[in-house]
Amino acid sequence: MAGRKTEKANSLKITKRDEDYSRWYLDIIERAKLAEDSGVRGCMIIRPEGYAIWEKIQQTLDKMFKETGHVNAYFPMLIPVSYFSKEAEHVSGFAKECAVVTHHRLKLTEDGTIGVDTEAELAEPLVVRPTSETIIWSAYKNWIQSYRDLPILVNQWANICRWELRTRPFLRTAEFLWQEGHTAHITYEEAEVEARQILQIYKTFVEDYLAVPVFDGLKTENEKFPGADHTYTIETMTQDRRAIQVGTSHHLGTTFSHAFDVKYLSAQGTLEYPFATSWGITTRLIGAMIMAHSDDQGFVCPPRVAPLQVVGIPIYKTDDDKQTVLSKFEELQQKFKLIDKFSFRVDARESLSPGFKFNDWELKGIPLRLEIGPKDLANGSCILARRDTGEKINVPLDQLEEKIPEILDFIQKSLFKKAQEFQRQHTYFVDTYDSFKNAIEQKPGFYVVYFAGAPEDEEKIKEETKATSRCIAFSLQDNSIGKCFYTGKETSQRVIFAKAY
Ligand code: AMP
Repeated sequence: MAGRKTEKANSLKITKRDEDYSRWYLDIIERAKLAEDSGVRGCMIIRPEGYAIWEKIQQTLDKMFKETGHVNAYFPMLIPVSYFSKEAEHVSGFAKECAVVTHHRLKLTEDGTIGVDTEAELAEPLVVRPTSETIIWSAYKNWIQSYRDLPILVNQWANICRWELRTRPFLRTAEFLWQEGHTAHITYEEAEVEARQILQIYKTFVEDYLAVPVFDGLKTENEKFPGADHTYTIETMTQDRRAIQVGTSHHLGTTFSHAFDVKYLSAQGTLEYPFATSWGITTRLIGAMIMAHSDDQGFVCPPRVAPLQVVGIPIYKTDDDKQTVLSKFEELQQKFKLIDKFSFRVDARESLSPGFKFNDWELKGIPLRLEIGPKDLANGSCILARRDTGEKINVPLDQLEEKIPEILDFIQKSLFKKAQEFQRQHTYFVDTYDSFKNAIEQKPGFYVVYFAGAPEDEEKIKEETKATSRCIAFSLQDNSIGKCFYTGKETSQRVIFAKAY
């Protein structure tokens, strides 16, 4: 019996953030059963608990995209290698990360093993999509003939493959799930409005649903998407005070319409190249959310994307008590189902103690725990325990239907506020490169600097400090003039530098 208890306790243990932050992150994912290794490096299995969060992300964003006029389509996963060669900057950006299919058959060898049939080589290698601009713009050549065919506002939900060398579940994987929008417009300005609109949708979603505060802004030339005219980004801070880029929206100019020779007949009768945007968010959002809110007890999931929002734990010792407590839960379950304002489940597992169940659900990040025992029943009340703060709230049983949605809403907002305050506390302003170099080593965080350097300067800064420019954040531009922290040139451009995931 003692052995079983220790085994259970160990299976719930999590490395502390202060001891080993990376291990802590992996422990959370493992213990909350969000994902696991697959045996293929960089490719994770997303378990039902993790996938349910992705489904919430997907459903909410899909609705937001459709409300702004976008439609979904699907394009093939395999892209002929020749499509990539049509756009030099794009191909050079992705060449090092591509998985390539060269054969289409396996064969049984004489020693009984299976190998690639070298006789079944493809005439043209196929790239497993690392992003779909090329295949989509090759299709748009047929879709776009006249100005009447524009705009095209297409999105695709898919998986993609980028052969990343350093991987980490959710944050950076070789295969990941994402959505990619690919739009085509008559004017540069229209494409600009689209790119900015999507960035705003991303920011609203990430802040309101994942409770993750972000800086939105423009990428510097050095960090923009290969082939883009310019790239917008949203960036957040982890609890170890690094940056994560959680979404990007690119104005592609006419790069891809030129590369794929897509022209349309304008209203004035001239042949024109349409302007493009592309934009994407990925399963990285789940990693950013884990890192923003979780604690040393495990995963903390914001209520609006939690697969389960409230878990009921019956507390009893005798059989009689068990019956009365369980039947109260049964009654509540029916009521909650009818009002349909939050998701609820009772953990009636027989062999486990309430204490074990508390830990188990804490680890899984379920926002609220509802405890009812015989004494509570006698008083007509119960306990609601918040996952984020551990606070226990005594609530009359007949007020649960109103109180639970209120508390869930409160948790959602307070998670955001806490993360926002953390981000604010670790955002610093520095003037000189020397002070920056010292500070970023001792106090990781977001460093706001005046910066007017060239891409080569950014590369040198990266080499020397491991920090990169994250964005020219909109909220930090105030037209004030300062000296570039690296070159000394006068500039009004304020940029965030940080070490990033
Ligand atoms: P991009 O098409 O390069 O702009 O990427 C779109 C978004 O995908 C980025 O903003 C990142 O948030 C995310 N992302 C990039 N690489 C990975 C990766 N290896 N794993 C998960 N997400 C990624």
